[in-house]
Amino acid sequence: MSAQLPAGLLPPQLHVFVRDWLSSNNILLKSRDGHVLIDSGYLRHAPLTLALLASERGIGTARLSFLVNTHCHSDHVGGNAAIVERYDCPVAVPAAEAPLVERWDGRALLYDYCDQQVERFTVDHVLPPATTHVWGDLEWQALAAPGHDMGALVFYNPEYRILISGDALWENGFGFVMPPEIDPAALPATRATIDMLARLDIRVVIPGHGEPFTSVAAAIARARNRIAAFEADSLRIARHALKVNLMFSLLDKQRMSLADMPAYVERVEIYRDFNARFFRWPPAKLAELLVGALEEAGAARREDGWLVPA
Ligand SMILES: [Zn+2]
Repeated sequence: MSAQLPAGLLPPQLHVFVRDWLSSNNILLKSRDGHVLIDSGYLRHAPLTLALLASERGIGTARLSFLVNTHCHSDHVGGNAAIVERYDCPVAVPAAEAPLVERWDGRALLYDYCDQQVERFTVDHVLPPATTHVWGDLEWQALAAPGHDMGALVFYNPEYRILISGDALWENGFGFVMPPEIDPAALPATRATIDMLARLDIRVVIPGHGEPFTSVAAAIARARNRIAAFEADSLRIARHALKVNLMFSLLDKQRMSLADMPAYVERVEIYRDFNARFFRWPPAKLAELLVGALEEAGAARREDGWLVPA
């Protein structure tokens, strides 16, 4: 994890609840005019999200004015329904994502497609790109950041030079991107988004996952290297997408039966779809290679017939 941020880098009304890979970070912007929360984590962690929000660093029983999402993937909106139930607050999502949520398109939002769980919620406001919002007494520019998610937004505060980046930029990489054979626009958009971020004057990035960081140029350089590697090889991008999705599901389920794994990669559409397009392997071979890749990365291990997080 990164060193502590220098004092004064983040204004006092901004609180970051750093979570993990299953739940996105939660960013709380406090103001006498109303508190705003950005991103709500994953469904299974909703009780913890509520506890953090109710804690001393949170807002207790005060009103929440707005729940905002950088994008509508399951690890960013999984606590939406629980937060709305507790705080009765409106939900604002990126304009491009709103129709998908309104018709609850589990394929486009990757919920059914990737075997992820989300409790249904309703959109109250849409956030178009290139608009400015005052949250926590700070001005935030909503900027389109397509790539990992084609409708995603990032939020930039020029005064403190803070970027709330969602999954568009992490300290080491970004959220998985669809191979060109699935969405030809995704990888070029990822590159254009990183170029757009490189032109911003950023002092600190608050990513969707991991600690806030200030080594912005290095993170952008790493992101560009990864994009170049993906551009050179769509099998690499496909393998990466399946690997991170399986790891996400393993973190969700806590353990997965190794005997059931071939049936699992047959049953869940992303594995079946990618296998048919890219690999054309028997399901048992795909399952074995994915499990092996997670073991090799030190992310998971086999234990008494189960795959468990390492
Ligand atoms: Zn995402």
